[in-house]
Amino acid sequence: MKKYLSFLLLFSMAFTVPAFAGEVQEPDVLQGSEANVIIGDETPSEMLINQNEINRKKVGKKPESCPVLTYHHLTTDVSQTGSWTTTPEKFEKDLKKLLENGYAFITTDEWIEGQKSGGTLPEKPVIIQFDDGYTSVYELAYPILHKYNIPAEIYIITDASKETPYRHGNDLFLSWPQLKVMEDGGLIDIHLHGKSHVKITSLTSEQLAHDYEFAQKLIDEKLGPRMWYYVYPSGVYTEESLEIINDIGCAMQFVWAWEQIPDLDKYPVMLRMNVDYNSDVLEVIKGYNDIINENKDR
Ligand SMILES: [Zn+2]
Repeated sequence: MKKYLSFLLLFSMAFTVPAFAGEVQEPDVLQGSEANVIIGDETPSEMLINQNEINRKKVGKKPESCPVLTYHHLTTDVSQTGSWTTTPEKFEKDLKKLLENGYAFITTDEWIEGQKSGGTLPEKPVIIQFDDGYTSVYELAYPILHKYNIPAEIYIITDASKETPYRHGNDLFLSWPQLKVMEDGGLIDIHLHGKSHVKITSLTSEQLAHDYEFAQKLIDEKLGPRMWYYVYPSGVYTEESLEIINDIGCAMQFVWAWEQIPDLDKYPVMLRMNVDYNSDVLEVIKGYNDIINENKDR
């Protein structure tokens, strides 16, 4: 339908704008009745501002899974994009596509609550997470999340969290005041990605236990108490680490869906997928659900 409308628009322009030649481009300004015509597959942002609330109210059958989609760094420089770096435009496009397709953005808190007896969940839940805690999330993603009233989670490295943004090489990390401002805004939850970013396999069990508990308590102290969730640095975990971190009080551990998948019934663990700049977010979700279904048949 949308494609048909844009075809009509271009068709009429071919007659009303004789000078229109060469490369086909969207007109800069649409006037009169044409202002409501949707160009290509893009739904105007204003039409999706309240869509998350609408999608969240669709609570028919209980969802079988909740895709967890992960982002890292954002930039306005397209030449810097790739697996771990996206642009605000692509990020917004991903969110709009999910909203248009009925997805309801929730938090891990809500997913856990919804699993309890009497709990409700939207039919198509999805969780958005950011790893590492770069300042670009505050500058470039947070305004977009605000625009659509979409909740998200940021998993931080506490050694890189200071009173002012901390620089390490080319990376600039969110400060405690920035993290607090976002949490106080009501849409962002801060959780742990490690005291440092070393792979846990380079730590002894004692170091892992100490670092995990130290960093979780620091987040609680700086930003207030919360449920403890953990995203492994570089996604590396072991059977032993799952047990250690679970026993200290972690309510959810996250591992990559493409890595070796742990026994999901043993400890609270969720799988997650990275959203590449060049990927179609709906294809990422399809891949996620395929892995979940294969895993059920194991
Ligand atoms: Zn990381």
